[in-house]
Amino acid sequence: MKYMIFNDGCVKEHAMLNYLDKELMSLGYIEESDYRQADIIIYSTCAGLKDAIENAGYNISFLAHIKKPEAKLIIVGCLTRNCNLEKLANLETNRRDIKIISDYNFGQAVKNYLLNENSQYTIKQQLEQKTTFKYHNDVCIRLEMEDGCINHCTFCKYNYMKMPITSVPFHDTLEYLKERIQKGTKVINLGGENLALYGIDLYKKPVLHKFIQELSEVPGLEKINLLEITVSNMYPELLNEICNNPKISKICIQLESASNKVLSLMKRNHTIEDFYDIVKKLRQHGKIVTTILMSAFPEETYEDLDYTVQFVKENAIYVNQICQYVDFEYIPSHQLKQFSPREADNHNRYLVNKIAQSNKEILYNAMPTLDQAVIVGQNAKFTYINNGSYTDGYSFMKKFQEYNPGDIIKATPKMLVKNQNTPYLYVYRY
Ligand code: SF4
Repeated sequence: MKYMIFNDGCVKEHAMLNYLDKELMSLGYIEESDYRQADIIIYSTCAGLKDAIENAGYNISFLAHIKKPEAKLIIVGCLTRNCNLEKLANLETNRRDIKIISDYNFGQAVKNYLLNENSQYTIKQQLEQKTTFKYHNDVCIRLEMEDGCINHCTFCKYNYMKMPITSVPFHDTLEYLKERIQKGTKVINLGGENLALYGIDLYKKPVLHKFIQELSEVPGLEKINLLEITVSNMYPELLNEICNNPKISKICIQLESASNKVLSLMKRNHTIEDFYDIVKKLRQHGKIVTTILMSAFPEETYEDLDYTVQFVKENAIYVNQICQYVDFEYIPSHQLKQFSPREADNHNRYLVNKIAQSNKEILYNAMPTLDQAVIVGQNAKFTYINNGSYTDGYSFMKKFQEYNPGDIIKATPKMLVKNQNTPYLYVYRY
C-alpha cells in the first residue's frame, strides 16, 4: 500500500502526522510522492482563517478529483470539526473513497481505521501523537502540552472555533518525558496554543511552573524551551520559575505589536509596558526571548510598525515569525476599517524588511558559547553539536566558531533537517 501525507495544519497536526508516518512505515506501508499513484492520501486541514479554509476546500476538491478512483482520501484536522466540508469543497463527502476523521488525536484514529480496529488510545500513545521528534536519538523533542484558549484576541480563530482548554495529565506526562530523557533526549520544547494556561482544565489552576520545575530535576535533561507564552496569562510563580530555573533557556512570548493602540484594538489584555517589565526580568536572568509579530492589522500605521521594530531591536527580541493579518467576517476585528490588499502587502513588506535587519543585528551581537550548544555525541576526532536553544543555526555556528576555534566538518542547517534520522546538526573539530 502506497500512502501520501499532505499537511496544511500547524505544529499539532505535524506531530500527529509524524507519528502516523512512523506507524504506517512500521506496518509496511510505502511512502509515495505522486498523488496520482498513492493508494491512501491523508490530508490535514487548517481552520485558522478565511484563506486557510478556502485553500483547504480547494485542496480537498483537487485531491478528490486527481487521485486514482480506488484510492482513499482521508481528511483530518481542524476543519473536520468546524465546517461543512461538502459545501466548502463542493463534493459529496459520503463517498466510499472519502473518509473524514475528526478525532483530536487523529494519528492513532487513522491507523485504527486503516487496520479496521477500534481500540482506545493509551496515554502514552496520546502523548506520542503530541510529540515531534528531531535529530538523532530524538535529542530534541517538542511536546504540545495544551490546546485551546480562553482569551478573545480580536483576530483569533477562537472567536468562531469552539475548542475547550485541554491539557496533558501532569504525572503521566512527566513519566513519559523521563523515559524519553533516559533514551537520549536533551532538549525539550514545550508548546501549546497558550502554554501559560496549562493545567486549568484538569487542576483548576495553571501549573506550568510546577511542571517545569519537576521536569528540570530529571537527570540528563539539558534544556527546556517554552513556546507560546502570553503576557496576559503570565502569573508570578511562572515568571519566578522561568527566571530562576537554569535549565530554561528560551521563551517565546507573543507580542504582535508594540503599539498600545494596536494592542488594545487586538484586545490583548496587556500594554507594552507590561510586556517590557517581563522581558526585562527575563533578560536580567540571561534568558533568550523570541516573539511573533503581526503586520497589516486594521488601523495600524507606519509609526506603529516603526515603534514595534524599535522595541524588539532595543530589547534584543528575536522575531521568529511575522503573520500578515487576514480578515474574516467571523472575527471581531472585521468591524475595523480594513486595508486594501495592496496597502496590507506594503505594511507587511515594510515590517519584514525592517525585522530582517533587526534579527541580523541581534544574532550578530549575541555570543553563542558551548553552554548554549548541546553536545549530541563525541568521539576522539569530532564533536557533534546541536544548536540547542539558539535561534538561527547558521549564525550560531559562525559565532560559535569565533569563540571556539575549529573547523566545521559538516553542517546541516536546521531548516533543512527534515528527516528525523539526520544524525547531527554540526560535526565540529577543535
Ligand atoms: S492568546 Fe493566542 S490563542 Fe489565545 S485568543 Fe489570543 S491569539 Fe488566540
